Amino acid sequence: MRKKIVAGNWKMNLDYSEGLSLFSEIVNMVKDEVTGDQIAVVCSPFIHLHSLAQLAKGYDKVAIGAQNAHQAESGAYTGETSAKMVKSTGAEYVILGHSERRQYFGENNELLAAKTDTALKNGLKPIFCIGETLEERETEVHFSLIQTQLEEGVFHLSTEQFAQIVLAYEPVWAIGTGKTATAGQAQEVHAFIRNAIAEKYNQQVADDTSILYGGSANPKNASELFSQPDIDGGLIGGASLKSRDFLDIVKVFN
Ligand code: 13P
Repeated sequence: MRKKIVAGNWKMNLDYSEGLSLFSEIVNMVKDEVTGDQIAVVCSPFIHLHSLAQLAKGYDKVAIGAQNAHQAESGAYTGETSAKMVKSTGAEYVILGHSERRQYFGENNELLAAKTDTALKNGLKPIFCIGETLEERETEVHFSLIQTQLEEGVFHLSTEQFAQIVLAYEPVWAIGTGKTATAGQAQEVHAFIRNAIAEKYNQQVADDTSILYGGSANPKNASELFSQPDIDGGLIGGASLKSRDFLDIVKVFN
């Protein structure tokens, strides 16, 4: 059975104390709302990770994640943070392949495959993001682009390794724009992704993979999106910075 996941991506927002107070509110609000096969994940900047992991102790349905980790194990990479360091904070997840990393930091599929390997080796679960730009959708190359992102980013993994992966479909044109994919558009791509997993691995692996939707998801549109058969939750940007909105999205599954 795959997990239902609502993951917040704080991006580069909130200083140390702002992050701690938002997370304290979130833990208090969501701890009784996250049930069964559901989990809530908060992906914060590195500076918050250790303290958030401490605050989340004892709540096994609330997990912490980073937003990036380097592909090398360690070394002379000034300013970078390794997967082992992330893991040592108590974080369990790491977002990899976010379109902002692809776009602003030149991360390509080959690099992301290496980051995925290193994250897995260090016991982190990647939340691996894929998705097309507006131009790619308008020229109808989005399915082949997503297929390539999967093949080059994560399909080199063994079945056992792939079982640790969460996927997030984030159409770039929907991120931070207020323009959400319709539930039908998102479901169509999620079904395509699940089918690609079944073809690469097998149906059981495909059925066990959580595939999240990201891009202007909010308390108003989350219930329609999450009621689609292949949408297993969301990767939430802006709305994860407000505890009430994040809670309302988490509650969609109740
Ligand atoms: P928004 O929810 O702000 O559109 O961001 C989505 C996102 O990029 C999550 O990773």
